[in-house]
Amino acid sequence: MTAKIIDGKVIAAELRARVADEVARVKREHNLVPGLAVVLVGSDPASEVYVRSKHTQTQAAGMASFEHKLPADVSQADLLALVAKLNRDPAVHGILVQLPLPKGLNTEAVINAIDPAKDVDGLHPNNAGRLAGGFEALSPCTPLGCIILTKSVHASLEGMNAIVIGRSNLVGRPLVQLLLNQNATVTIAHSRSRDLPGLVKRADLVYAAVGKPEMVRGDWLKQGATVIDVGINRIPKEDGKTRLVGDVAYQEALAVAGAITPVPGGVGQMTVACLLVNTLRAACAIAGLPKPAV
Ligand code: NDP
Repeated sequence: MTAKIIDGKVIAAELRARVADEVARVKREHNLVPGLAVVLVGSDPASEVYVRSKHTQTQAAGMASFEHKLPADVSQADLLALVAKLNRDPAVHGILVQLPLPKGLNTEAVINAIDPAKDVDGLHPNNAGRLAGGFEALSPCTPLGCIILTKSVHASLEGMNAIVIGRSNLVGRPLVQLLLNQNATVTIAHSRSRDLPGLVKRADLVYAAVGKPEMVRGDWLKQGATVIDVGINRIPKEDGKTRLVGDVAYQEALAVAGAITPVPGGVGQMTVACLLVNTLRAACAIAGLPKPAV
């Protein structure tokens, strides 16, 4: 038996369509146009690709998109001044500062300067703390996408054993909190965990967010487990080009898992779609409207 492939492309497209419907509704009923501002500092090629895709998808959903490109040698004060201006701008409901920032800039100070109500990356300590406390919060986009992909397979995660491998602020930690909110039983693994294969073997739900190509092997998995592979790793091919692989040995896992996300075409597709969701939610909350239906 081979695993069901969880098609992130299709699920993300459906989500974007639902966001677009809700954006059209709030525009029609409340004259509100959600706006997302993305700040890119420097010219990291991968970040430029992400920013372009965010811009295109934001506009396609009917929202306003504001791009701010700053040189790599921008001062901390000038970057903070831009964030402060965006915090005050009533047309901007979501602010995302593309990470990583060039060396010399203080990432923590920049994140802390974003108005938590506009923090669509969910990284501000107010949002991280609210999420950890089980309160309503803007949550990081990649973990939100992981939950939606899991729920495309399991309507309820209640009582399921989940393992999250990785404990970064961007992915692992918020994912743990979202899983707890879904009433899953969660194990958090990291580079100091002992007997990772043994821990993974117990899990009905496996989330790999490590950044190590194909680290999770097929024989680690419990038969029928659902595997969500967050990893994006570029490895060399024989022809000198590169290809993308996840943190899970996909071919091996296909034979054991019940369902699995491919790389590419899985989690990566969901991240920007969830950014649109967060921007819409932020816009409605700031305008005092009820939570949108996505
Ligand atoms: P980080 O490097 O910030 O975190 C990696 C985590 O993996 C750490 O918690 C680390 O543990 C843990 N780890 C490292 N080695 C091992 C090991 N041998 N065994 C168990 N755990 C280990 O990465 P991110 O969380 O930012 O990203 C993880 C992956 O997800 C990357 O491949 C990244 O490219 C991808 N990613 C994909 C996104 C998408 O949209 N699909 C979005 C964001 C990230 P410790 O804390 O002990 O050091």
